[in-house]
Amino acid sequence: MNEGAKVIGKSTGPVREIRINPIVPSQSVLVATARSMRPKKEEPPAPHDARPHVDACPFCRGNEMRTPPPIAQVPANDDWQLRIVENLYPVLGDDRENPHFAFGLQQTIDGYGRHEVIIDHSSHGIRVHEMSEEHLVLLLSTYRGRMETLYHSNDRLKYVLVFKNFGPAAGASIGHTHSQIIAMPVVPDNVQAEVRNSSAYYQASHRCIFCSLIDEALTFEATLYDRGSGEVRRTISVGQFVIERSERFVAIKPFASRYEWEVHILPLAHGADFLDANPEDLVDLARMFRRTMARLNDVLGGVQYNFFLHSLPHGGEYAGCAPSYHWHIEICPRTSIPTGFELGSGLFVNTLCPEDAAERLRNVLLRG
Ligand SMILES: [Zn+2]
Ligand SMILES: [Zn+2]
Ligand SMILES: [Zn+2]
Repeated sequence: MNEGAKVIGKSTGPVREIRINPIVPSQSVLVATARSMRPKKEEPPAPHDARPHVDACPFCRGNEMRTPPPIAQVPANDDWQLRIVENLYPVLGDDRENPHFAFGLQQTIDGYGRHEVIIDHSSHGIRVHEMSEEHLVLLLSTYRGRMETLYHSNDRLKYVLVFKNFGPAAGASIGHTHSQIIAMPVVPDNVQAEVRNSSAYYQASHRCIFCSLIDEALTFEATLYDRGSGEVRRTISVGQFVIERSERFVAIKPFASRYEWEVHILPLAHGADFLDANPEDLVDLARMFRRTMARLNDVLGGVQYNFFLHSLPHGGEYAGCAPSYHWHIEICPRTSIPTGFELGSGLFVNTLCPEDAAERLRNVLLRG
């Protein structure tokens, strides 16, 4: 290899480069792997509380009176497997009763919305990779069902965000496994940016950028040779970002991963709206989700993470974006605390080369 040779992904030395997010270019990431350059504080894995029942926990069976009345409970008896309740401390509610004061440039919009908690499982300390696939199908169908109901409940709701915080480093205030749903009157900025940029790409190329990235990840491999000497100048194997592919989904390590162990799961067939996922899709997704979480758990020895579901916002102005937007799940393990550099610059710093992380995740031996 000559001097300029570079094999992407085989980090023979420290990597330091700014990677542009292909979908949202303003969200770039500094990949800096040398220890001396790490401007962040590493978070040690938190001890996991595996107890199936905790007397003091408001989400455990037998303590149902400590939550608001359930919106739904499956099955609808004392042996429930999953419950949906209003959040006791909602970030959004119906604020029309408390008109606010707006002056000059300091305008606000009514905080109309809904905030619900899904108690994912009756077992307090169970983790996603320990849940049965049948249970995960129930959980995913519940997300889908609540999103549908909430979108239809009020025209002022523009986006229904499903997310999960797991572990104290991810901001979970209650140890019992749970997810949250916030129906909001605005589309979150990051979803808006994905929708807008993918739509612009579609205008130019008539292709969905997410589909293009999946195709690239599954097929693209290239070796560049030096014209003079004939030596290998650079080997690019975009396939090294793929962690796993199933019949209907793919788990990918984003090229410009903001978090060291960030993984995205996307349907292989184009679809903008998670509500269009059919029951067979959810069975395959449940398996992919469980396996991905098992890989992360194995590599990290206990994973604390945020999980977000990104799907096409509802409302007339987004209807035209169905060909260009592609729903997906973002799993963001929290292994460090952002410091002033990240917060002040808005530039994420990733101290692990995404290709190396993908390889380690791919190499985890899974049982089942
Ligand atoms: Zn509990
Ligand atoms: Zn697509
Ligand atoms: Zn997204």
